[in-house]
Parts: sequence; structure tokens; C-alpha cells
Amino acid sequence: MQIGAHLWIGEGLEKVIEFCEYLKSNCFQIFLSNPRSWKRKIRKEQEIEKFKQGIKKRKIKPVVIHMPYILNIAESDIKEKKKIINLLEKELEESEKMNADFYVIHPGFHKGQGEKKGIENVIDLLKSLSKSNIKILVENTSGQGTSLGYKFEHFYTIFEKIDKNLGICFDTAHAFQSGYNLKKFDEVKKDIEKFIPLSYILLIHANDSKTALNSKKDRHEHIGKGEIGIKGFEQIIKDDYFGNLPFIIETPKVSLKEDRRNIEIIKKIGEEYGKI
Ligand SMILES: [Zn+2]
Repeated sequence: MQIGAHLWIGEGLEKVIEFCEYLKSNCFQIFLSNPRSWKRKIRKEQEIEKFKQGIKKRKIKPVVIHMPYILNIAESDIKEKKKIINLLEKELEESEKMNADFYVIHPGFHKGQGEKKGIENVIDLLKSLSKSNIKILVENTSGQGTSLGYKFEHFYTIFEKIDKNLGICFDTAHAFQSGYNLKKFDEVKKDIEKFIPLSYILLIHANDSKTALNSKKDRHEHIGKGEIGIKGFEQIIKDDYFGNLPFIIETPKVSLKEDRRNIEIIKKIGEEYGKI
């Protein structure tokens, strides 16, 4: 089983590998920079090289990079859009340099223009990105505010129009918050397959939900402590398709101890169902 956490990079890239050791994890997700800032600093080649060596040595896979929050992929203003594409291209280039496997994006907010127009903007922006070797994963959302990608109809429209290196990141909390009842997982799978083949889903963001089914409120909770609960995660982990995907937790934490605990819980379920 590939399992890891979203980790901090504030103390440098090398520290991330140490965090992995402490967590007994074999994959992780990071931001490349402060996710709420447009500013970028150039990373030293030496730092990237050491990072790559660490990944190789510890057989860490996948290495996942998450897009900064400030980018609205559904933006329609031409000037803003240029700025977004510019930063995204830089991020993808750096991710490639770091030998990352996946780059996760959120499909953005339509901000009152309507879902149809919003999705058109997402398709347009993704199409305009230069070719990159890194696989971009579009993440499902909770449906909070005017966010797009909270139902798999949206993914059908995006994937139908784009032949780029794309996949989907399935966030369990967001799915539950947007109305997919993970406690009846077979039904959720059928609902998804009406629009896209499961094989498009390549990564799980494993988060419990602080808010109720269909709440459209994005609040993450520790595994087993939220509304999805252990029973919900058992359904996902024992599944023939979902249970074999990499799991990344994005659960609340003040220290790595909480991550370690959440990873242990998922591993325990994995062991029960023969995934480890
Ligand atoms: Zn997520």
C-alpha cells in the first residue's frame, strides 16, 4: 500500500524525506512554495538533486505536488489568465525537474458566470498549457461556493475535450461533502462510472469529513473521527480498484504526530483487507 501525507516544505526539501521516515510512509504531497503567494524563489540545483536522491533511496512513489490555492483555473479575465498560466508552467517545469509523478489542481470557481462557462474556461486554460511530462490530476471538490468539479458530470465534460496527460485525484472528504455517500461505496462507484471510467482516478486524498453528507462545506477531519468514519474508509480500502491506489492524507495537524496516527489507522485497515 502506498500511503503518505501532505508535508511542509518550510524547512527545506530534504526535511520532507526525514518526515517520511518518521511517518513510515512511502509517498507524500507538497506545495512548491507558499500556497497563498504569487512570489517564487528559485530553488538551488543542489537542493533538488539531494531531494531526488532521497526519493530514489527510500523508494518513495508517487511524489505529488499540489497547486497553490491562489490560482483560479476557471478564471475568464485574459490578463489574470496569463498570470495563472505563467505560474502553472513554472510549477510544472519545477515538478518535472524534481521527478514528481503527479501535479494536483483544483478546477476553480466560476464566480457567478455559471458552471457551463466555468468549465469552458477550465478546458481552455488546460488546453493552453505547454506539453509537460508530468501528469496533471484534477481534484473533485466539495461544491463550496461556486466551485467546479463537485460532480463527475464536470469531469466528463473536461476529459471529453482534452487529450492531455490528465487524471483525477479523488478526495474522500470532498466527495462526501458534495453528496456522494461513501458508506454506500458500490453506489458511488456506479454513479462515477456513469460519466468516467474508474481508470482515470489515480490518487486518493484520504480525509474524513467534519461536515455532513452533501453539506457543500469543505472541512477535513482525522480518519475515523468524522462523518465518513472507519466504516466508510473500510469500504474504500477494501475495494479492488480504489484500495490499490496511493493514499495521501490532508488531515488537521499541529505536529507530525497526528499524521502518524492517521496513517497508522489507514494501514491497519489495509492490513485487515490484505492490502499490505
Ligand atoms: Zn484534497
